[in-house]
Amino acid sequence: MGHLAPATIGIPVRTAQLDSTRLRHAFWLRLLIGASALAMLVFAALVLSIEVRLDDKVEARYQEALSLAERALDAHRLGGASAKVSSRAMEASRSGRFLNQVAAYTVALSILLALSFGTMFGVLLWRTQKASRDAMGMLDRLAREDGLTGITNRRGLDEGIAIELARARRNGHSLTVAMLDLDYFKKFNDRRGHAAGDALLRGAAQAWRREVRPTDLLARYGGEEFTLVLSDCDADAACRLIDRLRLCVPERQTFSAGVAQWERHESPEQLLARADRALQTAKKEGRNRTIVSGREPQIALPLQTA
Ligand code: GH3
Ligand code: MG
Ligand code: MG
Repeated sequence: MGHLAPATIGIPVRTAQLDSTRLRHAFWLRLLIGASALAMLVFAALVLSIEVRLDDKVEARYQEALSLAERALDAHRLGGASAKVSSRAMEASRSGRFLNQVAAYTVALSILLALSFGTMFGVLLWRTQKASRDAMGMLDRLAREDGLTGITNRRGLDEGIAIELARARRNGHSLTVAMLDLDYFKKFNDRRGHAAGDALLRGAAQAWRREVRPTDLLARYGGEEFTLVLSDCDADAACRLIDRLRLCVPERQTFSAGVAQWERHESPEQLLARADRALQTAKKEGRNRTIVSGREPQIALPLQTA
């Protein structure tokens, strides 16, 4: 690798497909909610107008019954009770009672319908919010996932290493970072083809993920380069883990590794740069080996002659 240039983060095609399906569902749900809200409004307006009209009719019938009753009373008082007037008064009051009952039923029915519409509206709203929450969560996860290998990508690494460093600073634990780079991988691709190269990258990443602790962070830094962030782990333990990782790479592919144990004043960038320099030394020293930063092999210098 040789340098720490930012790797390109591609949003996987899967993300776009999933996104569009979820958003389509969310669109239909929103449309349904809109339609039911509109229906509720129309229904409420309808019920209101019926009730207003019924109220008017009930009032009119009561007034009529009242005046007829008064007239009947007058007639009775005058000594000539009019049967016709009395029967009209009774009819008017019966009709008023009936309209009263209709109004009561209408109110009860409208409360019932409002309750069911309200429940439906609530359920639809909850489902829409859940669907968009799920979609956002999925997008968030995919934005930190490498499309080829399924492990954490460069963005996830940048966020994860900062979190792990903050945690180690707080609890006083050690932390070690390792950079792994497959040896002569270009030749492998040339010999076996890119599809086989992709399968090897996938196989190695999946095997390594099974080998490391769930709390360790394994990321694809880019190309055929990987990074390990090992919390509560020193350089020696990291070297032992890397020896185990060598055994599970498919096709007996070798890799070189650079290890750097965190020094408490270091930023994530400084720590990664130190692991990267150790990796370069491992490459120069002949590949298929692990070099720990600060323990680089001493190169014998020719004796100075006076
Ligand atoms: P070295 O031992 O010095 O690391 O040699 P190398 O060939 O591994 O390194 P170099 O940087 O020359 O080439 C890296 C190769 O990794 C180039 C490219 O073909 C391959 N590579 C990078 N990303 C992918 C990928 O996603 N899929 C496949 N199949 N190959 C990849
Ligand atoms: Mg490389
Ligand atoms: Mg390489």
